[in-house]
Amino acid sequence: MRRGGRGPLERRCACQAALRWETCENPNGQGLLALCLNPGCGIITTAPVEGSEPDDGLARFLLGDDSAPRYLAPWTRFWSRAIALGFRWKPAQPTCGPCGSELAMELRLAPRSGHYHDPHRVLLCLACGATLVAGRIDGQSRTLALEGRAWDEPVLVLRTLKRAIEELALEGQTWDFFS
Ligand SMILES: [Zn+2]
Ligand SMILES: [Zn+2]
Repeated sequence: MRRGGRGPLERRCACQAALRWETCENPNGQGLLALCLNPGCGIITTAPVEGSEPDDGLARFLLGDDSAPRYLAPWTRFWSRAIALGFRWKPAQPTCGPCGSELAMELRLAPRSGHYHDPHRVLLCLACGATLVAGRIDGQSRTLALEGRAWDEPVLVLRTLKRAIEELALEGQTWDFFS
């Protein structure tokens, strides 16, 4: 029996607006995809059964059933996490020293009283993971240069950095330090 039957044409969006179903090619062959006709919504629906749209419906439709999440290097996860928390990375002024990549990014963190060990500036190369962390290290203002593999089992300064962005985000301190 064909999955869904006549259901798709009758199903409405979660916002109750009508859906426009289309047949699309995907890794599983062909599938049905619906766009909500409410211009204020625009949600894409992939499940033909009412109320059963999975969170990853669109990803599964586009990537097929067997796709596993792509591996991300630990520094790439940190970069992405900082963005999700509301921080804004800027392209760093020099390209990456060790690998020459242009994917060198800079993040500045707001200083907090009582948190003298927080890094205040981070340069991170998304290509190789080379990282420069500026802050008070061992009681002195210093810049520490780390290789990408320092992220595998993060050294203290990277653990401090990870904790700092979580705490700053909780305090709403993700403001753009550059402007
Ligand atoms: Zn809708
Ligand atoms: Zn690099």
